[in-house]
Amino acid sequence: MEIKAINTNNNPIIKVEKLYKTYGNITAVNGISFDVYKGEVFGMLGPNGAGKTTTIEILETLRSYDNGTAYINELEVKFNHKKIKSQIGIQLQSNSFFDYLTLEETINLYSKIYNTSSSSKEMLSKVDLTDKCKAYYKELSGGQKQRFSIAIALINNPIVLFLDEPTTGLDPQARRNLWDLVKDIKNQGITIMLTTHYMEEAQELCDRVAIINNGKIVALDSPKNLIQKLLNKGFSSKRVTQKANLEDVFINLTGNELTQR
Ligand code: ADP
Repeated sequence: MEIKAINTNNNPIIKVEKLYKTYGNITAVNGISFDVYKGEVFGMLGPNGAGKTTTIEILETLRSYDNGTAYINELEVKFNHKKIKSQIGIQLQSNSFFDYLTLEETINLYSKIYNTSSSSKEMLSKVDLTDKCKAYYKELSGGQKQRFSIAIALINNPIVLFLDEPTTGLDPQARRNLWDLVKDIKNQGITIMLTTHYMEEAQELCDRVAIINNGKIVALDSPKNLIQKLLNKGFSSKRVTQKANLEDVFINLTGNELTQR
């Protein structure tokens, strides 16, 4: 995918300033600030426990925060849960849908709940599941399940889509299918914020990534620039023909081996 320059002259769709969140004596999010712009795919990377989920769930209005500010589409998250929920789509790592409703029936049900006119035909075609309209969720493969949960997340025509480790557990082919879907959604102008433990995925999909460690952002830039900055420091990877990749940036900055939940 051609990584287009992001127009940072516009107001950001997501604006986070000096955000703090503690759980007892654990500081999960330690004063982070970042902006995400319209049409951007923004990645949050970091080892387990770094504070990614807490940050994302604050933006999704699912968790409270102690200090700082967070805005989505100029609405302060703390005071606008309902309005924000109507403007975002959330695809979680694990989903459960109704066992005895087909995909088209499930979409029709969610359309009614969200009071939208999205048709099941249109939504299933967006995620390449038209031929599965009469199937039950439990009959789908892992990749198809993930694509279906993205269709559900898109039902209310969100301006921001949150994807939490969308390809974890998928085989390489299903993973690449999902990458294509993410690119299609981006091309429709929807802003995407995603977490992933796969550095090649972040490199392929993200315009910019924030690398979080111990609740702080330790780097924020395009994958290309982060790699270049690492190379400029004299880094040379032993493992690949390319001098460095985003995985090297991640390990160099966080001191952690890559782990998968
Ligand atoms: P990540 O998504 O990067 O793995 P999290 O945001 O889940 O990180 O966690 C950040 C830190 O906050 C971790 O130390 C974790 O144990 C702690 N934490 C997360 N959720 C809770 C919670 N509900 N109660 C107490 N501690 C939590």
